[in-house]
Amino acid sequence: MSIASERIERLAVLAREAAQSGEYDRARERVRLARRVAERNRIGLPRQLKRFSCDRCDVYLRPGVNARVRTQDGHVVVTCDCGGQARYPYE
Ligand SMILES: [Zn+2]
Repeated sequence: MSIASERIERLAVLAREAAQSGEYDRARERVRLARRVAERNRIGLPRQLKRFSCDRCDVYLRPGVNARVRTQDGHVVVTCDCGGQARYPYE
């Protein structure tokens, strides 16, 4: 694993921890930083972070706490408290 992807993994953990303590702005900073590192190094975000971060406000998502999850037409629809939505094929 490259240094960049290790850094991203660590930021993902820190973002989750911040969200778990209700520090959503801190969670956003960490998600944004992880995205920047990924972009700069031309690597993708880990799937976990991709799925658990809001594309609209960058917060780390906690289903049932700051995000709602439902299934629709074979998709999982995640709605953040900010109104941002993401759809994934159901697995
Ligand atoms: Zn959001």
